[in-house]
Amino acid sequence: MCFLKRLDGRTAAETGRDLHRFATELYPTCRSITGDGIRRTLASIANRIPLQTVEVPTGTPVLDWTVPREWNIRDAYIKAPDGKRVVDFQRSNLHVVNYSSPVHATMPLSELKPHLFTLPESPDWIPYRTSYYQEDWGFCLSHNQMLALEDGDYEVCIDSTLEAGRLTYGECYLPGRSADEILISTHACHPSLANDNLSGLTVATSLAQLLSEQGHHYSYRFLFIPGTIGAITWLARNRENVGRIRHGLVLTCIGDAGGFHYKKSRRGNAEIDRAAAHVLRHQNEPSEVLEFSPYGYDERQYCSPGFNLPVGCLMRSVWGSFPEYHTSADNLAFIQPLQLAGSLRVCAAILDVLEGNRRYRNQSPYGEPQLGRRNLYRSGGGTPGLEISARLWVLNLSDGEHSLLDIAERSGIPFPAISDAARLLCEGGLLAVVPDDAG
Ligand code: ZN
Repeated sequence: MCFLKRLDGRTAAETGRDLHRFATELYPTCRSITGDGIRRTLASIANRIPLQTVEVPTGTPVLDWTVPREWNIRDAYIKAPDGKRVVDFQRSNLHVVNYSSPVHATMPLSELKPHLFTLPESPDWIPYRTSYYQEDWGFCLSHNQMLALEDGDYEVCIDSTLEAGRLTYGECYLPGRSADEILISTHACHPSLANDNLSGLTVATSLAQLLSEQGHHYSYRFLFIPGTIGAITWLARNRENVGRIRHGLVLTCIGDAGGFHYKKSRRGNAEIDRAAAHVLRHQNEPSEVLEFSPYGYDERQYCSPGFNLPVGCLMRSVWGSFPEYHTSADNLAFIQPLQLAGSLRVCAAILDVLEGNRRYRNQSPYGEPQLGRRNLYRSGGGTPGLEISARLWVLNLSDGEHSLLDIAERSGIPFPAISDAARLLCEGGLLAVVPDDAG
């Protein structure tokens, strides 16, 4: 029952290559908050893990929102006065403002310009824009591309449909020994953007694969959902059951070269907050723990005051803080195999802490028990000082009140060493687990 150990069976390069390959497979699809793009993406995920696809009709009231119309797109272009496609959806799906209403018209450049979006500060990149909740149409292009447009009449075409249909999301439930749940949520609604979207999708899929290969205490629920409206829809449909969620993580932007950032849940001191902070402190990459804020990804919904679930958000670079964010430069070169593999490892380590975090009671609490007599005062092959030190910490603090995570935090010893010590001491009869429901 150790997810990290199972990952050790392969090199980080092998794991990373598989993650990046899956991202490459998903990259070309034009996803949106509804429509066939997200359906196709979920079908690819379903080839790897048991995934239930849920379809919710347009117009369904969900909390304070309504399920929107379904958007699908086949083609889009701007044709210059000489008939050449100067902007072509077939070259990049970012060229169309996502969720654009259909249009087919010819107009002078001056009339077209208010519908064109560029990034003057990064003149070679295409921005990513959406028009989900106000009906509009538009094109995104590089600033240099726009500067090259000459006066004249342009034919614009967006061959899209916005009609009553369904909102689609995917849910993978992996039952554990307990009905208590760990929620892993990631958004699946962005078109060809790699870090913001595909990094979370691929790592979450691999994590679900890893978990499905072995037994676990918690039950796990993985959500692959359109951002905001998907989380709201899921919460609306599962309002009665959210009490089962004991811990949760939103995964996003975890494939770039930046160090880790963990954003705490609204509660700020939930076990997931402490587990994530502990794991980040004891791994080799730079990391920072951030306080909760009511903006970001779907943790905003899970941590809205009515639900207030213990759900944090794991990132590398923070959304909006890197120049490639929401541009064509957030591409497959921007995410790195080794970074994806490192993120999967951190996720596995956090889940190992949650899975193994129990309270124990020292069975010989009057004076130090004589470890030498029990063959517990010598190393089992690891770092001898650390192993003995971990045993002494576990024995001293296991009064039925302190959890193993409490002990790991207070001793400064990484959780796996504390957890190994507890297992050995149990086998030696010096420690007994406190049942879950006891106080
Ligand atoms: Zn985004």
